[in-house]
Amino acid sequence: MSRADKIAKMATRTAVQAKEASNVSKKRSRAKSGVTFELHKHCVICSVPISINNEPPLCHSEECHINRSRKESSRKRLSVLLYVGVAVFLVPIIIQIAGALS
Ligand SMILES: [Zn+2]
Repeated sequence: MSRADKIAKMATRTAVQAKEASNVSKKRSRAKSGVTFELHKHCVICSVPISINNEPPLCHSEECHINRSRKESSRKRLSVLLYVGVAVFLVPIIIQIAGALS
């Protein structure tokens, strides 16, 4: 290989490298402006970005799982309380109507 060949090869290699570098920097600037980003969800407790396929939407932290189950149980208790409250309100009315009809 002659010296001129070597120089030509080095020149093309640097041109390819420059192209790649410009592509990378373009990608980076686009990511910075928020146009391109990986599809993801956030942990419902601590808002850490997680995979889109994570179900339930939680990160791997033990604390988040405990927190989530606590919230879930309190939500269930609240909905039960709501139904009980409605029942307590409605049952006397139903009894009264039944008494008036008979
Ligand atoms: Zn979390």
